[in-house]
Amino acid sequence: MSGLITLHGWGRERLTEILDKAEGYVASAQSTAFSGATVTCAFFEASTRTRLSFERAAHRLGAYVMGFSPELSSVTKGESFKDTILTLTAIGTDVFILRHTLADAADLAAGWSGRPVINAGLGSREHPTQTLIDALTLRQEFGRLDGLRMAIVGDIRNSRVARGHLIALPTLGVELTLVGPTPFMPQDNPWGVRTSTNLDDELGDVDVVYLLRIQAERGSSADIPSSAGYARRYGMNEERLSMMKPTGVVMHPGPINRGVEIDDATADSERSLLVRQVANGVPVRMAVIAEALEGVR
Ligand code: ASP
Repeated sequence: MSGLITLHGWGRERLTEILDKAEGYVASAQSTAFSGATVTCAFFEASTRTRLSFERAAHRLGAYVMGFSPELSSVTKGESFKDTILTLTAIGTDVFILRHTLADAADLAAGWSGRPVINAGLGSREHPTQTLIDALTLRQEFGRLDGLRMAIVGDIRNSRVARGHLIALPTLGVELTLVGPTPFMPQDNPWGVRTSTNLDDELGDVDVVYLLRIQAERGSSADIPSSAGYARRYGMNEERLSMMKPTGVVMHPGPINRGVEIDDATADSERSLLVRQVANGVPVRMAVIAEALEGVR
């Protein structure tokens, strides 16, 4: 049973293979390759781009998309997560695309359903398709990943996006530095990457500044005593953009909070890859869904 819960253990070859497959889908037409297959999007946390790009991706592969919104479902009548998964399996789900606050929700759902599960964001554990999207976007921009330097800036402690990047990007040759105020730093550093509390010191050395939203829903706050104004110390703005190499770019998984981690001019500048990241969500998720559906045929 394949699916994609984590990129942990994926080598360079495997990662490159899925990026190549996604690249092949960038300009592909609507297909009927997987007509008759049913993909269920079960999102137990809010989402705009992840959910809609997964739906669009499944549709472009010819699959039927069963949408499930807990707030409009029998979850509000007390139905458990397990019974919800069993119900959606019985109705006819070939592959689950799951977002949940629980880090092990996908492993549980895979066990109960016997179906491949794709992780669309699990608590602060990992968001593997976002990592693949960002790798593809960078490869398109720089023509390579090897040797690129990226500063991941902000609420790293609570970020599933950062965790996915830490798991997979070094395997592809990207050198990571974690930047943010101490309360936003991970409690341990099993990846052995560089850390810094001073963004301005890092800007001249990196090719990519990767910004993160402050995860208020996981208890984080911008009112960090030591930082005295998050935007002032860590927000990307035109002045900071000018401190980067002329080829340097800014990325963010979205949603952005303008005026906090990024200002208007930077978000809308030509050196911001934000819109391209969103657009790449569709081909990357097509590649991941196609692999999962190939596994159940
Ligand atoms: N959209 C990303 C996620 O779901 C990043 C964020 O919400 O800050 O993790």
